[in-house]
Amino acid sequence: MNLVFLGPPGAGKGTVAVKISEELGIPHISTGDLFRKAIKDQTELGKKVKSILDSGELVPDDVTVALVQERLNQDDTKKAFILDGFPRTSPQAEALDTITDLDTAVNFSVADEVLIDRLSGRRVCKNCGATYHVKFAAPIKEGICDSCGGKLYTRQDDAPEAIKNRLEVYYRQTQPLIDYYQKKGIKTDIDAAGSPDQVLTATLKALRA
Ligand code: AMP
Repeated sequence: MNLVFLGPPGAGKGTVAVKISEELGIPHISTGDLFRKAIKDQTELGKKVKSILDSGELVPDDVTVALVQERLNQDDTKKAFILDGFPRTSPQAEALDTITDLDTAVNFSVADEVLIDRLSGRRVCKNCGATYHVKFAAPIKEGICDSCGGKLYTRQDDAPEAIKNRLEVYYRQTQPLIDYYQKKGIKTDIDAAGSPDQVLTATLKALRA
């Protein structure tokens, strides 16, 4: 089952993708995670993309497509994969069509106010990467990771200006892909306004249908 997860930042694609990946044993490929790892490891790629991620802009298509192509060449993706956060532009979607076939494009939709609330309250552990939310999933001790005791921080791209930019980028560059996959007859819509468990249940139901 080859899947792409589409949706604005904060729609919860990543959270659902992690759970589905565990439930169905499918590799989860998040381009955002791959870029953040490259930045953390201070690789050439990481140095090149750091300021782009911080601002909420998109990494150039050729760089992103090459990264995904390399990942999809690995054996664990031969039977199934979830692409989370890719494609995000029409050229990326067209490039993906030349690399592999897709079964379903899952479109997670949520109102802007909910997205802003979710993104601005997100906190991440500097040490282990666990994600919290000041309102919806607060750690036991403020600012400290429950699992490893690491310090929690706000991602630079979750700062108010960057959130605004990421939403604008989404509407301008990524939203047109909903139509692209609709025309191919492989799009399925998920209302992602509910709790993570509700969204997961709805997604699994749609994928099994
Ligand atoms: P995410 O974690 O999916 O929100 O991605 C974080 C950031 O990584 C985005 O704001 C972009 O700067 C970059 N990024 C992730 N996926 C892509 C993509 N498919 N194309 C271009 N840039 C991307």
